[in-house]
Amino acid sequence: MAAGTIVIKKPRRTAADQSFVVEIVKGLGVTFKHFFKGLNQMRPGGVRPDVTKFNYEEGIATLQYPEEKKPYARRFRGVHRLTLRPNGDVRCTACLMCSTACPAQCIWIKPAEYPVGHASRGHERFPEEFVIDELRCIFCGYCVEACPVDAIRMDTGIHMTALDDRGSFIFDKKKLMSHVSQDGDQLTANSRPEPGDAEHSGITRLKGH
Ligand code: SF4
Ligand code: SF4
Repeated sequence: MAAGTIVIKKPRRTAADQSFVVEIVKGLGVTFKHFFKGLNQMRPGGVRPDVTKFNYEEGIATLQYPEEKKPYARRFRGVHRLTLRPNGDVRCTACLMCSTACPAQCIWIKPAEYPVGHASRGHERFPEEFVIDELRCIFCGYCVEACPVDAIRMDTGIHMTALDDRGSFIFDKKKLMSHVSQDGDQLTANSRPEPGDAEHSGITRLKGH
């Protein structure tokens, strides 16, 4: 043997080591420990972490989708909703900025004048019809960004589901107005003076200032 050669001795392995029986039993022990722990948590009346919340407690982390769902993040862009005024009117002023900004050209609006005597007549219009084709929509959020009065939002937390007919993807004004935010709100998140409020600019214009 040459000088300086290092000899590494083979470790002595017993027959039990060589057969791996002990290690296999140990591994199965860990597997069954977690299996029965999970089974205990899943039985009726068993206690397990609330998987619908963002937590990291030890235990079963399987979500029984679709019965159980995690809430979407606040900035998640779900299907649209048209926000309402406190009196229940649609907030949209039919300015067409959202439909102009929409890269998929999937918003169609038919503007109309408020009836004579209505507080908003002469200041703004309203959408007689407002349609979004959710199948063409690419959920970019440009419409929400373009809207000057926070009349259209995507904070519903509703994931567009697979539907089996084309017409179900066409959301009309009534449907869009019926949607609520993740907090259950139908109003705008950015309130501003309404026609009829003393500080509404339209009132000043009426007075000739
Ligand atoms: S999210 Fe984008 S594609 Fe969808 S309606 Fe709005 S602007 Fe159009
Ligand atoms: S939703 Fe907003 S941007 Fe679109 S037409 Fe109505 S007011 Fe204008």
